[in-house]
Amino acid sequence: MLATLPGRMMDYPLTLTHLVERAARFFPKSEVVSRQANRALNRVSYAELMKRVRKLANALVAMGVKPGDRVATLAWNHHRHLELYLAVPAIGAVIHTLNLRLHPTEIAYIARHAEDKWVFADATLLPLLDKFRHEVPWIRKVVVMRDEGDPAVPPEDAEYEALLEPCSDAFEFPRLDENAASMICYTSGTTGNPKGVVYSHRSMVMHTIVACMADSLAVGERDVVLPVVPMFHAAAWGLPYAAVMAGSNLVFPGPHLDAKSILELMQDEKVTIAAGVPTIWLGILAMLDAEQGKWNLGHVRTTVIGGAAAPPSMIQGFAERHGVVITHAWGMTETNPLGTLARVKSSLAGDPAQELRIRSTQGYAVPFVEQRHADEAGKILPWDGETMGELEVRGPFVAKAYFSDEGSDRFTADGWFKTGDVVTIDAEGYVRITDRSKDVIKSGGEWISSVQLENALMSHPAVLESAVFAGRHEKWDERPIAAIVLKPGQSASEEELRTHLEGHFAKFWMPDAFVFVQQIPRTSTGKFLKSKLRASFGEMLIGK
Ligand code: AMP
Repeated sequence: MLATLPGRMMDYPLTLTHLVERAARFFPKSEVVSRQANRALNRVSYAELMKRVRKLANALVAMGVKPGDRVATLAWNHHRHLELYLAVPAIGAVIHTLNLRLHPTEIAYIARHAEDKWVFADATLLPLLDKFRHEVPWIRKVVVMRDEGDPAVPPEDAEYEALLEPCSDAFEFPRLDENAASMICYTSGTTGNPKGVVYSHRSMVMHTIVACMADSLAVGERDVVLPVVPMFHAAAWGLPYAAVMAGSNLVFPGPHLDAKSILELMQDEKVTIAAGVPTIWLGILAMLDAEQGKWNLGHVRTTVIGGAAAPPSMIQGFAERHGVVITHAWGMTETNPLGTLARVKSSLAGDPAQELRIRSTQGYAVPFVEQRHADEAGKILPWDGETMGELEVRGPFVAKAYFSDEGSDRFTADGWFKTGDVVTIDAEGYVRITDRSKDVIKSGGEWISSVQLENALMSHPAVLESAVFAGRHEKWDERPIAAIVLKPGQSASEEELRTHLEGHFAKFWMPDAFVFVQQIPRTSTGKFLKSKLRASFGEMLIGK
């Protein structure tokens, strides 16, 4: 029975508009620093930036943007992209962050699918835009974001600063329905067409609150937040909104994502939280190791690593050699994206080896996200740390369906999202990813975890990166093959690598072959693209 009592809370919608108003009121002195393509740093205070957000809101309305319309961005991480993150949803429209690392035909497909009507593009990305803009009939206007030294704005397009300049910095934001769409992101799936995930204001606000919690990313007013993760990848993991809600300073790297540029920003801007995929941090760790004593990262509270598994050797290397604590997180475009986070519970703390083991798991679910794993028949599996099954999640910031209802097979009848990640879950709730379901290696009917083999190989001092994938085998169906990238100037033979693995794994887990490569092929968001490795080397065991 419903208990209706006389007193109740206000019907106050959870919308992103609140963040703009709050930031302008309480944190006018906080700052946003962006590295431009010409490498110069742009600095703007929250007071100024929130005025610009209102100007942009006026400009968008004047351009004819209506509630629900999709406004696309084709841009690196910088303050103007943040202005779009805030202004587009605040007027009731939907920001669609195009992934600039995709092939132009794929971007065209996505922009058509989302029916993007306006595109805000970096001037440096105009050559890319030119490759697909004419394939998207919906596009009405392109607005170019440009700094000194960038390519000129084509005569048929508008220029961002010129667009804002005449607009008033007063704007009365509409009161929106919290379930209205605020952002649409496409999955970077390596099979099939990309699928759209629509975040509502409510899901984004809930996600922002959870991201700021002490045991999540703990974003606070004193923080200086550097999202290295692109703003076109799952809302830069929610960090721009978390920082604006908390009043933190923000630092954006622009297009300069090399280790030296990132380290310079981290040091000079006194960054406290930085976030990105493991590849970025492997490069940074290699530079820190090579230039011992050069960099001062004393103010870094944590670096958040996700998007792919953070190898334990990297977690350990950062902590022991450079005093940097890594927060390992798992998420997906479909989960807004924060899903689980590897915090060491106090009852499990104390033993360094055990702590490293826990930090290397993907962690346990953040508040309001529920987790379970199931076998191929849908049977829910025990949390024993051994039984492998597909991870399923549900919660207020987990997708219930894809845009246009594609991919309905990814949702269970009882309302859970099937992640495609194969995991074990231990009695404490820690999830450990053993593979993507499409990358699993099944040898003689038994699963072999590529992630565990990769982690072990990456702990060898000469190995920069390793990806283990399935090779076709006449007798066993599939056998593991390890692709290895060596650190510059280092060497390791196949024999040495085998010896390094021995004793840690069952014999049948040992890779049948090692291939030494210059680079592991990657997806647009920096994950290993094992389908490409399989296409190149997957047949090499046949006949052996
Ligand atoms: P995306 O939607 O592009 O963010 O990709 C989500 C996928 O990235 C997940 O389903 C995982 O396969 C992978 N992923 C994300 N975070 C991690 C992590 N910490 N460890 C291993 N895989 C991860």
